[in-house]
Amino acid sequence: MPATPEKPTPAAPRRRVGRHRGEGQWAVGHMTPLNANEQAKKDDDGLNVRTRIETIYSKRGFDSIDGADLRGRMRWWGLYTQRKPGIDGGKTAILEPEELDDKYFMLRVRIDGGRLTTGQLRVIGEISQEFARGTADITDRQNVQYHWIRIEDMPEIWRRLEAVGLSTTEACGDTPRVILGSPVAGIAEDEIIDGTPAIDEIYRRIVGNKDFSNLPRKFKSAISGSPLLDVAHEINDIAFVGVDHPEHGPGFDVWVGGGLSTNPKIGVRLGAWVSLDEVPDVYEGVISIFRDYGYRRLRTRARLKFLVADWGPEKFRQVLEEQYLLRKLADGPAPEQPVQQWRDHVGVHRQQDGRFYIGFAPRVGRVDGTILTKVAELAEAHGSGRVRTTAEQKMIVLDIEESQVESMTAGLEALDLRVNPSPFRRGTMACTGIEFCKLAIVETKARGASLIDELERRIPEFDQPITININGCPNACARIQVADIGLKGQLVLDDDGNQVEGYQVHLGGALGLEPGFGRKVRGLKVSSAELPDYVERVLRRFEEQREDGERFAA
Ligand code: SF4
Repeated sequence: MPATPEKPTPAAPRRRVGRHRGEGQWAVGHMTPLNANEQAKKDDDGLNVRTRIETIYSKRGFDSIDGADLRGRMRWWGLYTQRKPGIDGGKTAILEPEELDDKYFMLRVRIDGGRLTTGQLRVIGEISQEFARGTADITDRQNVQYHWIRIEDMPEIWRRLEAVGLSTTEACGDTPRVILGSPVAGIAEDEIIDGTPAIDEIYRRIVGNKDFSNLPRKFKSAISGSPLLDVAHEINDIAFVGVDHPEHGPGFDVWVGGGLSTNPKIGVRLGAWVSLDEVPDVYEGVISIFRDYGYRRLRTRARLKFLVADWGPEKFRQVLEEQYLLRKLADGPAPEQPVQQWRDHVGVHRQQDGRFYIGFAPRVGRVDGTILTKVAELAEAHGSGRVRTTAEQKMIVLDIEESQVESMTAGLEALDLRVNPSPFRRGTMACTGIEFCKLAIVETKARGASLIDELERRIPEFDQPITININGCPNACARIQVADIGLKGQLVLDDDGNQVEGYQVHLGGALGLEPGFGRKVRGLKVSSAELPDYVERVLRRFEEQREDGERFAA
């Protein structure tokens, strides 16, 4: 589950909400919780559940876990109950949450900036093999996700992770989530600015800090100084994008209010330029605005994007400057259009220091503990001690000498980790789906993997950048709205009128400086069985009709 999803609530009868009840904004005096989630957070800070896990739940087992902890506060430590096996997608909306709950957990390890040492990667791989039945997915937020975690094992898992500087703190929940960072920060030849020091300072200041552990909802952030715009900054609550200011030099352009899910919005620019040193202050100011002014009455309106949409960027910047920073920010330029469409850093690339980094593609982010351990061994055998995860469900090994590139590449390919993947393997992402996610209606990871294989077999000549994103439900964990081909899981009717797994198709979404949401193709739903035929038809038509330089768009 690359995002902590919300179970869609059944449509309530339409009625006007009295404005006097307010939106639950603390800054205007609405401190009384207006829903059960807000009440639970007021009753006890989510961070406090760690002590109960270590002293009670891990000793007495799953059945001893308090309900409000199980379905709420556990998330503050990256834990989320997984779906009981064997419950089909048709039951997702009609069963109670406890009927869908397995007695095992998904556990998310946050990897801020996507940075790992090979030592850390080994530990991640070992935990996967010992405690997670080998599972370890790379998510589109640079995290690693395990499944099959038992509550009894959590103290030991935390001990091992924290011994190597990793954490699960606030990896889910209404919290400051993992800070996305350019996976080639500090090494890419074309880098505008390295945002790593700001990521470290924000983590130190904000993560695990109870001043920021009760937010209206999740708070997603991204910082990248890469001209490839490689952290999906457009769809984060706050993003810092590298720009070269004509007067002040390299720094960051500030974006706020992006987010997908059921009411998607592209972030907006504040028109402000900030230096590297200012980034943590601006992050703290924006997350404070969210905490204080964010809407808490309805979960469906509680993301920062709704406040930004109501205020507009001018008022948002004014409040940030006057109430939180107590100073004006410099005006600044917009980022420039990237020169290439792929943002994933897959392939072999020269670093600033003359060595090379090698990006590689598993299928839809699916790896396992054994593979991760082998990647760590392979990297070390070729003189590297550093790896990175990307926001495209890919990985990168850094610091390879030129003489070692060929051997390192061959080693990765032998593990079925493609350094020169097809556009389909490179551009297909999938969320967790029905295998483990309680909100899922359809299968995603296995479907995505088999779609890649089918398309490689059927149209091996296709060589255009293409993104195919697959979600298991109407949430947006795999970013379907901004894919060339977005597939939203739902039940559809087959030719015989039977309900089967399938997808609503969205075509022509994009990120970048001309972002947009894919158009829902009215009435176009494909069953899972028809999916390869459908995608093949779309791509062949594009190949036949496209003009020089035209990229895929419906
Ligand atoms: Fe997210 Fe996929 Fe689960 Fe839906 S099925 S909530 S998109 S992980």
